[in-house]
Amino acid sequence: MVSEATELVKKELPLDLETVILPEDGVIGLVLVDIINGFCTVGAGNLAPREPDRQITGMINESARLAKQFCEKGWPVMAFLDSHHPDKPEDPYPPHCIAGTDESNLVPALQWLEKEANVTIRRKDCFDGFLGSIQDDGSNVFVDWLKNNQIKTIVVVGICTDICVLDFVCSTLSARNLGLLTPLKEVVVYSDGCATFDVPLHASKGALTHPQGLMHHVGLYMAKQRGAIIASEVSIGSSCP
Ligand SMILES: [Zn+2]
Repeated sequence: MVSEATELVKKELPLDLETVILPEDGVIGLVLVDIINGFCTVGAGNLAPREPDRQITGMINESARLAKQFCEKGWPVMAFLDSHHPDKPEDPYPPHCIAGTDESNLVPALQWLEKEANVTIRRKDCFDGFLGSIQDDGSNVFVDWLKNNQIKTIVVVGICTDICVLDFVCSTLSARNLGLLTPLKEVVVYSDGCATFDVPLHASKGALTHPQGLMHHVGLYMAKQRGAIIASEVSIGSSCP
């Protein structure tokens, strides 16, 4: 059920969603954020959904559809996988996605990506995939992926819209604006390819409340405020002017 508060927020923070047609001859990368069991598979851990969730199921389906299209074309795909050391908590959240457990692995619908040559997988132990891509030698797996492939547009999907997706988009857009990510021009966030979790006020028991529809919308809105394109549809088509 959509709450009155969510309707009010959507009215106060209206979002113009765009239809994005990716040109066949473009240089486009797909970024998958944390589409792993610990956040998406019912009962898979402390931060996994407790029951089937329509927004999360839709996000997985749309992400898998895009990933399949990108892989058929041999276009670059990058997947971030939240993977934590058991002794390093990530406040304010309970232990989740411990490295080496199935919680930190791709959901069944995306596991095939591990065998694809055009897919780069990065395990990260923080919210932000951009910062989580920094290696011990100071290089950055995400920046190298962008530059090596000369990517001009990225499409971002995954979970959570307002946490890991948003943090990654904010860092990427700031780095782009500083001229650190040339030739990257556009960051597209696909609305139905993103999802977040649901802890409504009445169920929060003193913890942070997190109503799903409202926070998904706010996450998209904040990404738009940083300069991201928010898409209601993403497809691959011919590059007509
Ligand atoms: Zn985490």
